Amino acid sequence: GNTVEIGALATLELIKEARDGTMVRQWGIRVGKKEGELRRRELLEQGLLDPGLKPRRDGESILFPVRTMLPGSTMEEFEAHPAIDDLPRHELIGGIAVMQEPDPEGAARLLGSRPSIHTVLSPKSDVEGDFRTRRFEILAGEPTTMTRYLEHGLRFDIDLSVAYFSARLSTERQRIYSSMAEGERVLDMFAGVGPFAITLAGGASFVAASDLNPGAVHLLRRNIALNRTRNVLAILADASHLPGIFPWRFDRVVMNLPLGALRFLPHAVSMCRSGGTIHMYALQENEGECLSEIEKFPVSGVKERVVRSYSPGR
Ligand code: SAM
Repeated sequence: GNTVEIGALATLELIKEARDGTMVRQWGIRVGKKEGELRRRELLEQGLLDPGLKPRRDGESILFPVRTMLPGSTMEEFEAHPAIDDLPRHELIGGIAVMQEPDPEGAARLLGSRPSIHTVLSPKSDVEGDFRTRRFEILAGEPTTMTRYLEHGLRFDIDLSVAYFSARLSTERQRIYSSMAEGERVLDMFAGVGPFAITLAGGASFVAASDLNPGAVHLLRRNIALNRTRNVLAILADASHLPGIFPWRFDRVVMNLPLGALRFLPHAVSMCRSGGTIHMYALQENEGECLSEIEKFPVSGVKERVVRSYSPGR
């Protein structure tokens, strides 16, 4: 324990120096060029790759910097990536960096800053339509809006132009997951590519996950398979039809459609068992705006909390 801690501190110190051009000493794993990409992904998924340092060529091999001593690793020198604070503002979703403004020079710097970034985009539209998607301009890298995103040991294939996705809700997903009793039946009415459904499946007996967008349901099915999840049923349906599809009631209902949640609340209430929980997300300027509508239903209590900001004041 102590040795590793001291090593970690030393590395942090050296990374700071490396911003001024110094090389950093870290454990390295040597991998044949052919299996380089596969091994890089494995190390990344296991949380072993040191993201602050650049892998480098060494003859016929690639040397990957790893956070800790591993079998076969040796102490090596690596160049540090630029610190994330020195880069233009962006949101990272898997291998895609989304910049707020189309800045080609900044996009090129972002692309070169991490080997995991394969594409840099900027939105050409707001989140729009029933499917809640945006249109994008490709600024640098591979011309794609598809990527793989990792969250708490789960993997999600995402296509930003086909279906909605936000990495900013990961804390909220974990909060709900940790509040669940064992073996609950969960309904995710607006499931998208499945981040809530597949996360909550870990503690549930059964999850029904539904969305109106065929592209989202296609990716949801893919993500169920990718994570070997066996208790999520993916359904292509309008949320207002769900009460006619499911004859039973759920312990927990998730409603992540912030602009339309109140409209679908009657359906959520009719599918939630007495004593169950509904997580309804709504876009508000002030707390309490939805309370009078919610209290028209036979609810035993309402807890309201700020999850994240959407735009200033909302
Ligand atoms: N829960 C997902 C997540 O967190 O990534 C997606 C949330 S996104 C804000 C809302 C989703 O609701 C979109 O995927 C959209 O296609 C879907 N949707 C919109 N209207 C719907 C409806 N009437 N019935 C079912 N799904 C709907």
